Amino acid sequence: MKFFKSVSNIIFMSIILVLSVALVSSVAVMREKENELETVRSRESEYQSRLSEKENENSGISSELEEIENQKKKLEDENARLKEEKEALSKEAEKQKAAASSAQAELKKKAEAQSAASSVRPAEPVKNKVCYLTFDDGPSKNTLKILEILKKYGAKATFFVVDTKDIGYVRNIYEAGHTVGLHSATHNYSKIYSSTDAFFSDLKKISDRVEGIIGVKPKVIRFPGGSSNLVSKSYCNGIMTRLSALVGEKGYSYFDWNVESGDADKTTASYTYIRNNVLSGAKNKNSACVLMHDSTAKTTTVQALPEIIEGLAKMGYRFEAITPETNGYHHKINN
Ligand SMILES: [Zn+2]
Repeated sequence: MKFFKSVSNIIFMSIILVLSVALVSSVAVMREKENELETVRSRESEYQSRLSEKENENSGISSELEEIENQKKKLEDENARLKEEKEALSKEAEKQKAAASSAQAELKKKAEAQSAASSVRPAEPVKNKVCYLTFDDGPSKNTLKILEILKKYGAKATFFVVDTKDIGYVRNIYEAGHTVGLHSATHNYSKIYSSTDAFFSDLKKISDRVEGIIGVKPKVIRFPGGSSNLVSKSYCNGIMTRLSALVGEKGYSYFDWNVESGDADKTTASYTYIRNNVLSGAKNKNSACVLMHDSTAKTTTVQALPEIIEGLAKMGYRFEAITPETNGYHHKINN
């Protein structure tokens, strides 16, 4: 019995011993874990503080960026303003240049007039005659052929255009140094001569179209049918009298003609008919404004042009483009 008691004591003690060892070792493991946790926490707070540092840096950079953006916008505004100023200045300079050259021309004219008046030489036939070749109702493919011929002879001319599918050729006309004038957008008598408002709204259409292509507003016009036309009477009594006065107020000069080519007498008149009309019409004049057409059907006008230019040159004519200051060759107004 005593033996059994001491055996059970030994077993009991052994269990206690095993339990104590297990307890001690688990406490040690817990300590270790706590230490690890501590290390992780301190790293976390270190990362946290680095993160907030970076965030501060970032916000600094973005406010700098914003400032740079603002400065850039300011510079761009300044640039645009300077560009506008420059444009205004160059326009002003051009205006002054034109004024100076017209003043000079005026002086020259006066001097010439004085010297002519004081001269005792007998009157000579005028050799230095001016001719304004004009083409209405284009542009068309014929316009390009006409430009080639004019270039060959070094002649300048004037084109009174309508809104055709080839309106883009006004750029070729303008760049070759000829005058682009306005005829009308539609050339529709019943529409354009129904009222002065209708006329000017049609004129504005063709003006805007041309300005969109060559960048300048034409200042010279020719009334469809001329200022003397009677066809307008069917649509509005007295309209040509009113229009001929109003166009000047709106900054335009209008031009009729004093030599007819007759190229509108038929759809396509013969080239000799056209040539003969021009040469006989210009014969006893000192200045000529020749009415021709460069619409699609007028192929014989193109054909006649070289002989017209050569014939007129022999009579002493030189060929100039119309400007707003040119004499208008105004017809008598009939309506
Ligand atoms: Zn016409």
